[in-house]
Parts: sequence; structure tokens; C-alpha cells
Amino acid sequence: MKDIFLAGEWVQGRGTPSKSYFPADGSLNAVFSTASEEDVQEAIQKAHEAWQQPQWRDSLPMERARILYRVADILEARVDELAALQTRDNGKPLAETRGLVMSAANTARYTAAALDTVDDEFTNQRDKSTLTFSVHEPLGVVAAITPWNSPIASEVQKLAPALAAGNAVILKPAEVTSLIALKLAEIFAEAGLPRGLLSVLPGRGSVVGQAIIDHPLVRKISFTGGTTTGKRIAQIAASRLAETSLELGGKSPTIVFEDADLDIAVNGVIYGIFSSSGQACIAGARLFVQRSIYDEFLDRLVTKAQALRVKHPEDQQCQMGPLINEAHLDSVHAFVEKAKAQGGTILTGGERLLDGDLAKGSYYPPTIITGLQNTDSVCQEEIFGPVLVVLPFEDEDSLIEQANDSIYGLAAGVWTENYRRAWTLARRLDAGVVWINTYKKFSIATPFGGFKESGVGREKGRLSILSYMQQKSIYLGLDAVPNPWCDS
Ligand code: NAD
Repeated sequence: MKDIFLAGEWVQGRGTPSKSYFPADGSLNAVFSTASEEDVQEAIQKAHEAWQQPQWRDSLPMERARILYRVADILEARVDELAALQTRDNGKPLAETRGLVMSAANTARYTAAALDTVDDEFTNQRDKSTLTFSVHEPLGVVAAITPWNSPIASEVQKLAPALAAGNAVILKPAEVTSLIALKLAEIFAEAGLPRGLLSVLPGRGSVVGQAIIDHPLVRKISFTGGTTTGKRIAQIAASRLAETSLELGGKSPTIVFEDADLDIAVNGVIYGIFSSSGQACIAGARLFVQRSIYDEFLDRLVTKAQALRVKHPEDQQCQMGPLINEAHLDSVHAFVEKAKAQGGTILTGGERLLDGDLAKGSYYPPTIITGLQNTDSVCQEEIFGPVLVVLPFEDEDSLIEQANDSIYGLAAGVWTENYRRAWTLARRLDAGVVWINTYKKFSIATPFGGFKESGVGREKGRLSILSYMQQKSIYLGLDAVPNPWCDS
């Protein structure tokens, strides 16, 4: 049975053991121990002690950066092994999990470089007898809580800036993808991170996650996951004024105008919803197509969707792998059944795949649904699977109203050759990210996060390091004579 990583030690967790299965065929990957509430208490106490040690608290940014540069190098050197493990853990195609490992390496390297640009300030003097400084300090113990869909990338997106800022981190991965998180613990230790500053505590959200967020020494909770869980975490954090960063769910609109390059648009829309088998927070799950090209575009869309290769994720030809597990497949399929009940028409897909070896795993085909209203629940709720709803629109105003009619505001995609229109839309859409004539492209230098119920705070970019720090103002008196007030 695999150990957990508690304050720099590999130990058997005292929680109920858990198992990792390969979503492609249900085979067992590993049995691992999970953390108990006592383990959580111990890890947080040790993290609190570790971040205050002079070796860490007084470390120079360049010293912390050196660890992250080494993490980046190790991730890159072990990309094949880590991608294979990630694929076993969550069933994503190998090409995609390689991309996630490289993204994690880029994040670590970018954060290391950016750390050197985070300056403290010698603020302008307002009074000749005082010098004033504004310095940045770490928060203390930070919790990182992550989902299963892009684990290694989202975990390093939290660990790198939090550690760069000088904090200690307790990482609680999604239970189904604990193996890759435990591997990260090994990599950070190998890169020279002092003991106690990182713990990786697998286990159930309701037990391990809850014990972490309830702990008074946890000063920030950086969470990526569902909106319901995020709201609960925000409430608990607010009760003791701990900071939160919340990267939550989405139901992102993609929009195709009649003047779009339809070859580019159709591929972009297909990639936006069906890559990762739709298990992406930013999946373009609601497609709006201008009425004049609606029929033609739908034909092209269905043809492309039917040509996608749903295969075993270790097959180099695979474009779409299995869904994470049977329970999630059932939840995705229930939405399709609901769509039918709401009057929707299934143009393609809509039934789990059971041909040959696909029967062994949780495979679901690309599914396209028409005939619904934007207000129907299937168009409003996050499905987190390969299901696209398509709606026609007449003009820009009615489109904006519908596209923004959602509790979410994570991302949006616009296809048009008219750049004046593209700009107007980009500014009017309620979304943290807007892609124009492209989709799901990322730059680590560009902030990421959601509007409305898709989240609070931003990750990535130089400011991500500052989001794990607090400012302190220091006043240095220059008077050579005593303050006359006491003697007046
Ligand atoms: P989830 O909310 O069920 O779980 C996320 C994490 O929270 C897991 O580690 C889970 O164990 C933990 N958790 C659950 N209950 C908890 C509690 N009471 N206290 C503390 N921790 C708890 O989400 P999921 O099913 O793992 O992931 C899918 C969701 O994540 C989707 O909604 C998706 O949109 C969202 N997501 C968002 C982003 C983003 O950047 N905005 C990225 C990826 C995924």
C-alpha cells in the first residue's frame, strides 16, 4: 500500500485506504493509504513550524526560485513516466497528459523567473522625518485543493507560486488522482524543498478536505473544483477571515457568426468541447450559431464529431479517452436523458460506447443536442462531459443576452472575421477568458479565473505569487530629536 507524504516523511496514512483504477478498463493501479483527521492536524502543525524556520522564512527569492527551476527540470526529464502515470490515474490520452506535465514544468520555471521581478517598495516620502517601505511577506500555511481533470497542471499552478512566496503548503488532491500528486511530493523533495513545507494528503473531501479548511492555522485556501464545493469553502474561510482563491465550474458559450471562417470555426468548436472528453472547466458547452449558417454549420459539426477517434488513451491515435469513472458516465448520460425529456434532439452520440474493448471502460461518444432553449436546465448546468448543446441566434444583442444568461462566467469563444465585432463581444461577454478565432489556448503569463459563480481570484501571471503574500508597511523614523508632543 502506498504511503502519504506527511511533512516530508513517507508514512502510512491513518485514514481508510483507497484504490486508484484505470478508467480505460477498470484495472487496479494501486492501493494507497489516506490521511486521517489526526494526520491533517499533524501536517498543518508541522507546516506551521517549518515555514517559520529561518532557513525558509529568511530565504532569498533566488534561493526559492532555484528549487522551482529544479522542479521544472525534473518534470521535463520525467515527462514520459509522469504522463503515463497521469493517464493511468484519470484516463486522459497520453498526448494530453504529456502536455499537462510540460505545462506544469513551464509553470514552475515561469514562477521561478517571475519571483525575481516581485519587488518590495520604497514608497515616496510624504514627510522628511520618515522613510516608508511596503514589503511582501508570506501568509503561512496555505491549503491547495484540486480536482481530477488536469491534476498535475493545476497542482503545480498552486504549489509553485505558494512556495515561491515563502509559504508552506498542504496539498489535498482529488481522491481518484492521488498517485500523480504523491509523485509531485517526491519531485519537490528531490528538488531540495526543506522538510515540512509540503504535505500531500490524499483522502475524501468530506474528511481530509474538511479538516484542512476548518483548521485555524490555514491562512489561505486555493481551491479548484465544483461551484457547490467552492461556495462551502468560501463560507468556512470567511468565518475566520482566511483568504480564498476559487477556480470553479463553467458552461461556456462559443459563438459562430456568418462571417466566420467556417473551417477554422468548426475545428475550434469541436476541440473546445470534445477534447479531454469534455471534462474541462472551460469546455465550450453551449454553442450559438447565427441563423443564416445554422443548418450548414450543424452538418459540418456532426460530420467532424462522428469522425473523432474515441479510443484507449494509451493508443497514439486516441483523441477522446474514457470518462473518469462509471459514476461520472452515469451523471453525463442522465443529462442527455433529461435533454430528451425537455424536447431536445440528439444529432449524434447519446449512448455509452460498448463496442469491443470500449465496453471495459467508461467511454462516451461526442454528443450534439439541438432543439432546446437556453433557459432549459441542460443548457444551464455544467455536465462536464462530451455533450454540446447548439442554439441558433439572430443578432448580436439577443446573442449577448443569451450568452450571458448563466450563473457561470468562466470562458467564451467567438468566431468572426470582423475584428470590430470580435472586440465588442469580447468586452460585453461575462467571462474571465475570451478566445477569438481560437479556443483553449493558454499562456502562463496571462491571468486565469472566472466571473460570477465561476470563481474568485486569478491564477497564473506574475501576480499569482503576490496572491500568496500579504503586504506589510514599515516606517523608519529619521528624527534626531525626541518627539516634542510628550513634553508640550
Ligand atoms: P469537486 O468540487 O467535487 O472536488 C474538488 C476537490 O475538492 C477534491 O479534491 C475534493 O475531494 C475536494 N472536496 C470536496 N468536498 C470538500 C469539502 N467539504 N472540503 C474540502 N474539500 C472538499 O470537483 P471535481 O468533481 O473533483 O472536479 C470537477 C469540477 O472542477 C468541475 O465543476 C470543474 O468545472 C471544476 N474545475 C474548475 C477549474 C477552473 O480552473 N475553474 C479547473 C478544473 C476543474
